[in-house]
Amino acid sequence: MHVLVTGGAGFIGSHTCLELLEAGNAVTVVDNLCNSSEESLRRVQELTGKPLRFYEGDVRDEALLQRIFAENAIDCVIHFAGLKAVGESVSMPWEYYDNNLGSTLVLTKVMKQAGVKKLIFSSSATVYSAGNQMPLTEESTTGNCTNPYGWTKYMIEQILQGIAFADPQWHICLLRYFTPIGAHESGRIGEDPQGIPNNLMPYITQVAVGRREQLNVFGDDYDTPDGTGVRDYIHVVDLAKGHLAAAKYAQTHAGCEAFNLGTGNGYSVLDMVHTFVDTNRVCVPYAITDRRPGDLAVCYADPDKSARLLGWKAEKNLVDMCRDAWNWQSKNPMGYQE
Ligand code: NAD
Ligand code: UDP
Repeated sequence: MHVLVTGGAGFIGSHTCLELLEAGNAVTVVDNLCNSSEESLRRVQELTGKPLRFYEGDVRDEALLQRIFAENAIDCVIHFAGLKAVGESVSMPWEYYDNNLGSTLVLTKVMKQAGVKKLIFSSSATVYSAGNQMPLTEESTTGNCTNPYGWTKYMIEQILQGIAFADPQWHICLLRYFTPIGAHESGRIGEDPQGIPNNLMPYITQVAVGRREQLNVFGDDYDTPDGTGVRDYIHVVDLAKGHLAAAKYAQTHAGCEAFNLGTGNGYSVLDMVHTFVDTNRVCVPYAITDRRPGDLAVCYADPDKSARLLGWKAEKNLVDMCRDAWNWQSKNPMGYQE
């Protein structure tokens, strides 16, 4: 299969390109590098010993996309490209709607022109409304998002459902990720956030490596066993493999179907800190601070539908995630910049 990966230089995209190449697929990437480095793709090729084709550019550039489809016999598209920082989306809503919706509209328009109608989309657990029972199933209520980033994912899901409803030749999977962390076991590729990390694991690894003084734990008065927020952390390599399973499923299943990609297990912020410290024998000083606005107390998946229909299940545990995140950060203290 020849797969076009938008946003393939990013955290999840680079790990997915690696798995696609290892499974014998041809891979073409388009990425404008607004939140990533081409070095990730160089390392993916080094690790696999296989080449991929890279176009540096914006998915909203219709002429570029037409050229990519003309020059490559693409069978399927995995669409990662987008802006993803929740807090930033509150202060820059226009940029988030423009980038995330615009890239999806241009991509699907050009796919339709090229007759390529198999699409895997990076959605998020953020599309689920607050107030659902845990675990979240694909039938749980969506909408009522608390920030523009979440709304872009929700709206894109609506757009893709509409496209598949109108034209039954489309085969679309909406993959709702829970909280991806970790890195490839080689320590050569991993998460490399620009500026101050928004997410827990890259913040922990940057404290451990000495780039930041201490972790702020956002609230210890939630209704959870230790008072800190509970999330369903999933190893990025398991997540990447979920995309291969979805791409296979999309070969034979028409329509637009949502899938949770999570482990089904919830861990608290302090579980994460303690497991990271014990696994890697490092120090992670932390202080309890105010809650982060918009955070849920608890969020975890029911991954049963993905197991049944995609034949996919997360295999790695929390120790694997903490070990691999540290292996990456300790070998690349400044990320890809060295
Ligand atoms: P990332 O920022 O590392 O990767 C996104 C990539 O897309 C980057 O390489 C960036 O340069 C590129 N990009 C952005 N806009 C583009 C555009 N208009 N044209 C071309 N390239 C563009 O993020 P990630 O963590 O790998 O996330 C990938 C996808 O998964 C995103 O859509 C994100 O919203 C979604 N997602 C991520 C998480 C998470 O916690 N990491 C959770 C749920 C969903
Ligand atoms: N969190 C924290 N300090 C940080 C970043 C995150 O205490 O610097 C908490 C956050 O409140 C949540 C959990 O860690 O309970 C996971 O947050 P993250 O942003 O990594 O994932 P998300 O909530 O988006 O799934």
